[in-house]
Order: sequence, then structure tokens, then C-alpha cells
Amino acid sequence: MARIVMKFGGTSVANIERIQNVARKVKIEADAGNEVAVVVSAMAGVTNQLVQYCSDISAVCDPREYDVVVSSGEQVTSGLLAMALQELGIDARSWQGWQIPIHTNQVYSKARISTIEGDAMVAQMGAGRVAVVPGFQGVSSENRVTTLGRGGSDTSAVALAAALKADRCDIYTDVDGVYTCDPRIVTKAQKLDRITYEEMLEMASQGAKVLQTRSVEMAMKHRVRLRVLSSFEEGPGTLVVDEEEIVEQQLVSGIAYSRDEAKITLQNVSDRPGVAASIFGPLADAAVNVDMIVQNVSADGSATDLTFTVGKADLQRATQVLEARKEDLQYSKLVADDNVVKVSVIGVGMRSHAGVAQSMFNALAEKGINIQVISTSEIKVSVLIAEEYTELALRALHTAYGLDVA
Ligand code: ASP
Ligand code: MG
Repeated sequence: MARIVMKFGGTSVANIERIQNVARKVKIEADAGNEVAVVVSAMAGVTNQLVQYCSDISAVCDPREYDVVVSSGEQVTSGLLAMALQELGIDARSWQGWQIPIHTNQVYSKARISTIEGDAMVAQMGAGRVAVVPGFQGVSSENRVTTLGRGGSDTSAVALAAALKADRCDIYTDVDGVYTCDPRIVTKAQKLDRITYEEMLEMASQGAKVLQTRSVEMAMKHRVRLRVLSSFEEGPGTLVVDEEEIVEQQLVSGIAYSRDEAKITLQNVSDRPGVAASIFGPLADAAVNVDMIVQNVSADGSATDLTFTVGKADLQRATQVLEARKEDLQYSKLVADDNVVKVSVIGVGMRSHAGVAQSMFNALAEKGINIQVISTSEIKVSVLIAEEYTELALRALHTAYGLDVA
């Protein structure tokens, strides 16, 4: 007997038949004598619709009421799944975020979980009752509903698994696991049996959409045994584990890409102390996240170009902030370009092997793809290239690192 958390994403609960399919999967685990908590997303498309309603009513809506509205999709699926389980003869009830409770801070629409008081729920799970929990939601200290940011149900599931000290956290989705690259683009991509937390974290934050980045962070911190698998096909999925659990480590485990980047270049920025602070400070104040940054050394010690990337959605805000400060910052010209994609090769194996970046540069050079910006971390090399080369670059890199399925 084990204690498990099962999480089902929006496509897995997209309609009544699929909710019934989920109920059958849950029944198998419950019948095996496991204590089960199920976390559900809203039906596919529902959250987008709810977000749309909010922006139709109010351009800058009250974040507390926004959370009341957008959290409702998960409330619906939690009740429906509890009913579907009851129809199968399984004792089940739903637990809303405020009922458990899942405490969060007060950053409405992007709240972070502080603590989960699972005792009452665990007591009922121990008595054989399946707990159905709406993902994405919690409650703030002022007793109002909060949501955890888009894709937040993954984080709900992992947080719950950590709080309940679950033996496993199974994330059911519409793909059968984590792939070496997006299989819609790279047909020779392979499903990974295992991936390390560190790699999964980089994959998620560099654009792979299979798990919300924060959920991976949390799983890594609390050592939650995480598995990604399909709710439509049988199969073992992909296990996210500690590095020690991977016997033969590949040099590169996966290639991620993000079209969500935009590039800004400030030309002729003066080369003196404090300039970076005066540029990135106001951007941070405007809640613009900056990702890659390159600054050259000026030839004559006076002026240089500074290039960096921001999220596409933030591009307009970022240019406004910088243009408003053109006088102070003393740059000559701002050039914005949103026709870019960031491609990242990821693998813990690169910690101990040289030449990974070089193979990337070679593979791109052979295809005549120009690299605009480069950034690296211990287990990742990212490049920014023109968006039209996305497919070509991903396929070339996948082959270059020997990841193609035989
Ligand atoms: N329903 C929410 C969203 O679409 C949360 C989730 O599904 O993870 O973002
Ligand atoms: Mg999701």
C-alpha cells in the first residue's frame, strides 16, 4: 500500500467521457489499497475562457476577483470527478483549496504556497476515501481565494505530494512522457525513461511545456518522486529523479526551445560603472524579466552595445520604460526584434565534459544559422537565433548530439 498523488491536466478532463476515464484510472489505484489524492485542472480551454471574461469586463481587473473567477474551472472538475468516482462505487469527496487548507501568500494570480494543513484530508484518505483536489488554487491569510499562475496545477500536485509525504506523484497528461525534443518538430525525438530534476528544471524553464517550472523546483527541493505519463495510453512514462539514479548519463539529455523571447539592443551605451544597474533596475521595477544579456567591451573605453532578451509579452512595456529614460541612459538607438527563438541544449553530463557548446556552434554553422546571443550555465547552452530557423536548428542539433531514435 502506498500514498499517491495523481494529477490530471486539462486535456485529460476535457469532457465527461474523459473525466470518467480518469475515474477508472483512479479506481485502479484505490482498489489496489492505495491512499489516493487526485489533483485536477480545469477542462481544456476553460481557464482561457475565464481569463477572457475578466478582460472583457475590466482592462485592469481586481486581482482578488480575477482569482475568484479563474479558479472556478478547477472547482467544477473536482466536483465532477468526485461524482464520477462515486458512480464507480468509490468513496470520494472534493476538497477546495480553502477547505484543506492550502495556504498561500497574497500575490493574487501568482500566489506561492506557504503551508498545507493536510491532516483532516489524510485522516479521511486513511479511511479509504479518495480526496479530489482542484489544482491551481489556495487561500490567502485574508481568507480569499488565490491562484498559483498559469499551469499551476502541477505545482498544486507536487506541493500536496510533499505535504502528504506521498510515495509518488504521477502527472497524467496528453503525452506519454518527457521527450528529448518536441516530437511535433523532431520526429526522431525519443521518450526518456528517466531525467534528473536539474535537467527537467532547465527543460521546463527553457520552454518545454510538459511541467510548470515551479512544480519541478518544488519536486527537487522536497525530493518528490515525480512521473510524467499519458492518461490516454498505457506506459511507464518518464521518471524525474536524482542524478544517482541514472546509470548511464547522456552528455545531452534534451533540447528545448522557446519562441517566447524578444531581443532588445541598446546602441552606444556609455561604458562606465552603474550603467547596467540604471538599465535593468527600471525594467525590474516594471516587472520585466530579463533573460540573456550580452555586453561587449568598448574598443576605446567610451561606448558599447548592450543586448538582452525579455519575454515577448513584455517587449512593449520594456521598450516604453527604456525610451522614457533615453536621456539618462544616453544610448543612441534602441532596436527591438521579436523574430527570435531561444534554443537550449541541456544535460548534466556537460559538467564533466568539454566541447558541448562547440558541437552546438558547429551544427548551427553547418546549416548557415547565425547565432545572435549565447548564454550558458553548468548544464545548459542556449543560443538565440532567427525564428525561421527553429525547426532546422532543432533537427540538426538532435542529430549532432546522437539523440535521434535508431
Ligand atoms: N487551469 C489552469 C491553467 O490553465 C491551471 C492548470 O491547468 O495547471 O493555467
Ligand atoms: Mg499544464
